[in-house]
Amino acid sequence: MPTDGAPSEAPRRKSVRDAAEFAHARRATTPTTEAEGLYRLLVETVRDYAIFVLDPDGYILSWNAGAERIKGWRADQIIGKHFSAFYREEDIERGKPDWELEVAAEEGRFEDEGWRVRADGSLFWANVIITALRNETGRLVGFAKVTRDLTERRAAQERAIEDARRLAEAEASSRAKSGFLAMMSHELRTPLNAIGGYTELLLLGAADPLTSRQREFLERIRRSQQHLLAIINDLLNFSRIEAGQVSYDLAPVPLREVVTLVTPMIEPQATAKRLSVRCDACEPGVTARADRVKVEQILLNLLSNAIKFTGEGGAISISCAMDGERALLRVSDTGQGIPASDHEAIFEPFVQVGRGLTHVQEGTGLGLAISRDLARAMDGDLTVRSDPGKGATFTLSLPAA
Ligand code: ADP
Repeated sequence: MPTDGAPSEAPRRKSVRDAAEFAHARRATTPTTEAEGLYRLLVETVRDYAIFVLDPDGYILSWNAGAERIKGWRADQIIGKHFSAFYREEDIERGKPDWELEVAAEEGRFEDEGWRVRADGSLFWANVIITALRNETGRLVGFAKVTRDLTERRAAQERAIEDARRLAEAEASSRAKSGFLAMMSHELRTPLNAIGGYTELLLLGAADPLTSRQREFLERIRRSQQHLLAIINDLLNFSRIEAGQVSYDLAPVPLREVVTLVTPMIEPQATAKRLSVRCDACEPGVTARADRVKVEQILLNLLSNAIKFTGEGGAISISCAMDGERALLRVSDTGQGIPASDHEAIFEPFVQVGRGLTHVQEGTGLGLAISRDLARAMDGDLTVRSDPGKGATFTLSLPAA
């Protein structure tokens, strides 16, 4: 199949006659009115559509500005050539260009979307409409071809399909993961609760009186059981939040009420480490729009961390304040602090500063990841400032009510 336009096969020679006929037909439709002149000007100058005319064998007779822009050939380079120049080699081998003309001739019109070739050999995705042109006796005198370049639209559609596929895959895997975690945590919690229950019974002396050594061992069992249960609960919580399975009941929450409720919960641990816990400034008017239970959970986590990472005799302070449209809740401690290089990492799941084989630390490294996820889901944020050695300040910011 010629791509340089030179007619090489017998049927092509016939085109000379048909082209003459076409020229005749065109003369018959030479614009006679101003409207027709404008119409022709439009076709010639429109840039978004390649509009050109073929003779009955597919040789190019006319070429507009859009065709030059979309396909890259100038009129003087392409007129007289065969239109199969726009097709890929494999399409030419399958006889696609001729077949398209046959369909258009038989049915009057042919439409297609597919790859076409530009002058520089690059491909573009085209919408092509071929319309058969017939003279007044009904004889086929040529074809009008209108081509649009839809490469960008196709790429955008493909990107959207790929994004949707990835999202569906991620959602399916996330559902599978949370289903697995939910199942595992249920399976683990049942025997753990049994361990806890029987330990409690033994400690209460429900069986036989205990020696102090037995009591000490049972206390250790109980602490480990509680620790394991907390880890499992954290894991389950985190997987639920990540899977978007947590609902948020947003309402005005006076932050002072949250502080008053949560502080007594950590008093025993604080007292055991001789830490002072005080609430500095917390005006009653500081009210956030948030889910109260989630704010309590975040504050409890921040206070537990402050206790865990502050040495004996240190101080922990809580404060709340308005900052424009935000309500802020702060927890500061005088503990070991966090190096600046870890300020982002500590909010990632399972990250614990200084964790190593020789440094076993309580906790899962999930508390801050959970807290920040919760804060962000309520349109808030959780941030840290710290001078290593001097302590850390965590700030929960939430939209004001
Ligand atoms: P966990 O407390 O279970 O280790 P978190 O996500 O709550 O997990 O905290 C992650 C890490 O951030 C902690 O292991 C610790 O290294 C650091 N961190 C958190 N709070 C403080 C704090 N108040 N002072 C110093 N380091 C802290």
